Amino acid sequence: MSEPSDWGMQTRLIHTGEHTAAPGATPTITPIYTSVTYLYPDTAALDEAFASNEGYVYARHGNPTVATFEQVMTVAEQGAGAVAFSSGMAALHAAILAAGTPRGETAPQIRGILAARDLYGASTSLLHNFFAAQDVAVTFCDLCDPAAFAAALETTRAAVVVLESISNPLLTVADVAAIARSCHAAGARLVVDGTLTTPILQQPLTLGADLVVHSATKYIGGHSDVTGGVVVARSGLLLASLQRYSRLLGAILGPFEAQLLTRGVKTLGLRMRQQCHNAAMVSTWLDEQPEVAHVYYPGLAEHPQHVLAREMLGGLFGAMVSFDLKDGSREALFRFVDALKLVVPATSLGDIYTLVSLPIISSHRDLTPQQRHERGIGDGLVRLSVGIEEVSDILSDLQRGLRAADAATP
Ligand SMILES: *Cc1c(COP(=O)(O)O)cnc(C)c1O
Repeated sequence: MSEPSDWGMQTRLIHTGEHTAAPGATPTITPIYTSVTYLYPDTAALDEAFASNEGYVYARHGNPTVATFEQVMTVAEQGAGAVAFSSGMAALHAAILAAGTPRGETAPQIRGILAARDLYGASTSLLHNFFAAQDVAVTFCDLCDPAAFAAALETTRAAVVVLESISNPLLTVADVAAIARSCHAAGARLVVDGTLTTPILQQPLTLGADLVVHSATKYIGGHSDVTGGVVVARSGLLLASLQRYSRLLGAILGPFEAQLLTRGVKTLGLRMRQQCHNAAMVSTWLDEQPEVAHVYYPGLAEHPQHVLAREMLGGLFGAMVSFDLKDGSREALFRFVDALKLVVPATSLGDIYTLVSLPIISSHRDLTPQQRHERGIGDGLVRLSVGIEEVSDILSDLQRGLRAADAATP
């Protein structure tokens, strides 16, 4: 569907990619196409479909339901095109391969990867246990210091830089624009995992990133009922690499999942703004509680990158809030979580309901206390993904948890 270029983001998220089926009986919402193969009037037309790379021939090469999701994500991120994957990890893998493929080449030639030190756990493992294990030089550095980052880029001569727009679980904010400038000056490509910000807070491609990756399992799906990922590319060249790796590696998104994700995107703006609003209230409230030692939230004036966050995130500060319990013992943490009646103790994030997780027993379990300490992750750290419930109900539940955490064990 052609769309007026002056439509606002929320309008585009609802209408992009829809109403595009065969003329005559056009459904308002793209149907779930389960067909693996597609028929053409004659062999010449099939030949042309193969040659032009347009039109559908086989499910692993493209699917109309998936294409609708890819189109809306392309618009949301203001990119040249998108490729959907079966999970966020599959998307990140393909994005790194595409970023490491030089112009004119059909295979990656990655001389080095420079990555943020505090990436999502599985992303760190992908770099360590997969890329480094294949003799790619992988270096981790603290991206909060742009000068240190530029120096690391020069010494490592990395071809690919990987970072998260807001890190997890300490919620530091990356200066994507400054980092992108350094990357391009050094001939490196920048991959931004924008899962925690979503295109509602930040569109990394407009700040100079080359590829933006989302675990669509999180905010984009938003209801904890679908696993998926997507990469949006800045150029046609990177898009072509992504499509090639998607077809070869085969970690494609299924049509049922694509339909759920397209549906999720339509309410992403509403959900995200409400979640950020609730998270701001939760962070301010936690900051005043005697049982809490420290709150990590980019919206708080005390957050080290508060000013940068204001600039980078369009006036919202995300919907994740982390905090340190004053009593950082395992017993107190467990009492806190077990006393909660509303907040769900599950590992994911970005859902419409509030979730709690304890990094020391989940995402950062495999690190030694020393490694956690080096990353600034204290033993009493609690991570919340704030949902869209009534904020007063979230606060009462957290109050219940804090009282239980504080209660002396008999
Ligand atoms: C969850 C997550 C991933 C991995 O996504 P999956 O859909 O679980 O494969 C990658 N990056 C971030 C920031 C995540 O939160």
